[in-house]
Amino acid sequence: MRCSLLVIGGGLSGLAAAIRAARFHPDVLLVEKHTRLGGLNSYFYRNDTLFETGLHAITNHAAAGDRKAPLNRLLRQLKLQRDDFSFCQQLGSEIRFLGLASLSFGNDPELLFSEVRAAFPETWPRFQRLLAMVADYDPFTPAPFRSARATLGEVLDNPLLTEMILCPLMYYGSSRADDIDLGQFVIMFRSLFLEGLFRPAGSIKDILDVLAGQLRSLGGTIRTNCAVQKLLTDGERVLGALIGKEERVECAQVISTVGHRETLRLLGRAEDAAHEPTARLSFVENIFQHQPWHKWQSLPKKTIIFFNRGERFSFHPPQSQGVDFSSGVVCFPGHFEGMPGRALEELRTTHLASYSYWKALAGSPGRYLDEKRQTARKSAQTLADLFGSFPANIVYEDTFTPVTIERYTGKIDGAIYGSPVKFADGRFGCDNCFLAGTDQGFLGIVGSMLSGVSMVNQHILPHL
Ligand SMILES: Cc1cc2nc3c(=O)[nH]c(=O)nc-3n(C[C@H](O)[C@H](O)[C@H](O)COP(=O)(O)OP(=O)(O)OC[C@H]3O[C@@H](n4cnc5c(N)ncnc54)[C@H](O)[C@@H]3O)c2cc1C
Repeated sequence: MRCSLLVIGGGLSGLAAAIRAARFHPDVLLVEKHTRLGGLNSYFYRNDTLFETGLHAITNHAAAGDRKAPLNRLLRQLKLQRDDFSFCQQLGSEIRFLGLASLSFGNDPELLFSEVRAAFPETWPRFQRLLAMVADYDPFTPAPFRSARATLGEVLDNPLLTEMILCPLMYYGSSRADDIDLGQFVIMFRSLFLEGLFRPAGSIKDILDVLAGQLRSLGGTIRTNCAVQKLLTDGERVLGALIGKEERVECAQVISTVGHRETLRLLGRAEDAAHEPTARLSFVENIFQHQPWHKWQSLPKKTIIFFNRGERFSFHPPQSQGVDFSSGVVCFPGHFEGMPGRALEELRTTHLASYSYWKALAGSPGRYLDEKRQTARKSAQTLADLFGSFPANIVYEDTFTPVTIERYTGKIDGAIYGSPVKFADGRFGCDNCFLAGTDQGFLGIVGSMLSGVSMVNQHILPHL
């Protein structure tokens, strides 16, 4: 078999890259090792119910008429219409530092501004300076790492507000322990606080089905349940790949969305991996499905709550335990405007987790399962602390660990955001193979799709 472009990985960056290329050259082959597309943002069925693996909310909300907004630019690049999707906006979210302060935010940035003005009046002029910096900063020109934590410390001169602003942005977009690159901070600040959050009315499957349908209608080919085993090279260029059960494919160009180290492994060059300045980050994600519960009807309906105990937000893998419950994200997937009602409700929690702890347990299935159950219980207790109660009528619960993430996406150390070292131009020392997605540097659903599109625009289309 021969193709112009081989795309490794059927997550959101791979799908976007393949569609963008297939608009101009249909002989694109996308290869995904799992039976379903979506990668980190996929779905599975239990008890006749579709559960999303990752989706809390999509960042970068934009009104339909805002032509310059990243979301609308992305749809145009993929030749998709907004009407192909049914989007629901968030009801409103919150950053809560227990016992210290809380800030609400929504899809109208004025809400966050008024909250900061009210909770930190003395810092409001400095916060305006931060807003001006976020507006002026060009995060897309490649630059060496610059600490957002240090920059915020100087600009805001308010440790608590600094930590509160960093908490959601690091949870949703930092691959680096305890800090975030300033350029990535600016991207995330705009995506979360200035643009906002939304989700499909149905599930992530609706988005994946539209993307797969678009790729096929443009002439592209999707092979699921088919891993790339090895990339075949002449030392400088990739000539082809062994896929599935030793099937040989020849290709002119390659986009790899599986990560830098993971791609080096496929090239037989694992020893070339860059030194990483901080540990890779991974998470546990708990899903709780419960019956509607009257005690919670009186609580203010929030979409996502980012919480922390203590004044400082520490964002690194826990050292001696499996999970760090001192901070986390709580998501209510039903709390979006216009979401169709469901008989059962769902909530999800995310906490920082230690890959090595869970990996060591994975050899003893009984202990691993037991630890997963305890994690769900402790996370539920954390929610009870936050809300004063926790649904008693859970009908289904599940916990994904760093080992689950590694198993289902091949990400080394179950690192959702990949390596702390990024390759902004997608180049990593191979003439016709480029990185897109997580290790190129853009994170999240819209970010990873923009990454796929921009790598194809920069490297593939000019040469096909
Ligand atoms: C629990 C969780 C919650 C999240 N919540 C959100 C959210 O609410 N909003 C948001 O915007 N983002 C969220 N994210 C992040 C988001 O999912 C990712 O940033 C994004 O989906 C990454 O897409 P990707 O295509 O770059 O990588 P991936 O999704 O990792 O895709 C890579 C694909 O490559 C495949 N693959 C690996 N090795 C091979 C091989 N050798 N051959 C063939 N295929 C291979 C994998 O199976 C995978 O499908 C979440 C992630 C997780 C894990």
